[in-house]
Amino acid sequence: MINHRGPEFRALLPELETGLKWAFQTENDLLIFPATGTGGLESAVANLVSPGERVLAVTIGAFGDRFADLAEAFGADVARYTLPWGEAADPEDLDDLLSRELEVATVLITHNETSTGVTNRLQALAEVVKRHQRLLVVDGVSSIGSIDLPVDRWGVDVAVTASQKGWMLPPGVTMLSISKAAWQRQASARAPRFYFDWERARKMQSKGMTFTTPAMSILFGLRESLTMMREEGLPAIFQRHLRIAAAFRAASTALGLRLLAAEPEIASPTVTAVYLPDALSGEKSESVFKTWRDLGLVVGEGQGKLAGRIFRIGHLGAVYEEDVVATVEALERGLEANGHPLTPGAALTAARRALESSEPSLVA
Ligand SMILES: *Cc1c(COP(=O)(O)O)cnc(C)c1O
Repeated sequence: MINHRGPEFRALLPELETGLKWAFQTENDLLIFPATGTGGLESAVANLVSPGERVLAVTIGAFGDRFADLAEAFGADVARYTLPWGEAADPEDLDDLLSRELEVATVLITHNETSTGVTNRLQALAEVVKRHQRLLVVDGVSSIGSIDLPVDRWGVDVAVTASQKGWMLPPGVTMLSISKAAWQRQASARAPRFYFDWERARKMQSKGMTFTTPAMSILFGLRESLTMMREEGLPAIFQRHLRIAAAFRAASTALGLRLLAAEPEIASPTVTAVYLPDALSGEKSESVFKTWRDLGLVVGEGQGKLAGRIFRIGHLGAVYEEDVVATVEALERGLEANGHPLTPGAALTAARRALESSEPSLVA
């Protein structure tokens, strides 16, 4: 490690801030804390929400629920707009809700719900929140840097992400952007805050330092990630994720499996959630996951009420076409070994066709 109060770190920090502003597509302030994504989300609540204040949490899955619980833990009076798992929030319903919920000052929305593989139509939702002049805080943990989220163009006041998702890094660093309106709110908000005090963090960062010891090794990695991302370019990165997601969806369908995302328009570019066949769900799922592990394939299991019923393929960050091929082959072999009827090779053919298609479906 280097001296984090020395000249090398003073040179590194502004370079990271500039790179992150590019990736967040924003001119807002960018803060970096040693924490996971949940820490970044907690910092937003601690800096923006006063005890007793009305907050609207839009939740389409486990991470949306967590964000709502977090606001409740800080004493907020939380209204929940909850959708069935597999669905996305409806901008018109949000509009109706905000027309009735006049006391809501802050709206919390998950951009990409990692537990269900659903991406919200954030642009349309953000438009509604802005029309109602509320503060918009977005959990972009598994989207920023992988799925298009132009923070300034869409008027996102606070956008939060974490190093272990699209940034291709180990866990341990959270990064967030903060708009002028959010800074104004921060100045008058009354929740207790210390470690995550944004104002102190901003002052320290402006001097090329951080309040606590930074997670230096990860920040060196971040410099490299940002270099790789600039070489590829944001539009190419977003397209690659869309193409790879389309390939996994096509492969899953060809394997005779059903997707959790109710409509293709809201299917996530970074994680695909797939129902296990009925014959292999519940306790039998353990055998399938074990076969996959033995083949070298690690897929996510279902969370909460989806445990034992789905599997999730994470495909964000450093994921390329050859990874799709290897994954689809292992998926097929594992299912076949557990007695699932399928046409050998069909999934790979479907995946290859989707990878070669020049127009992957876009998330609106
Ligand atoms: C991973 C993730 C989080 C935060 O998880 P941490 O384990 O705290 O980093 C929050 N929201 C979403 C959508 C995520 O994917």
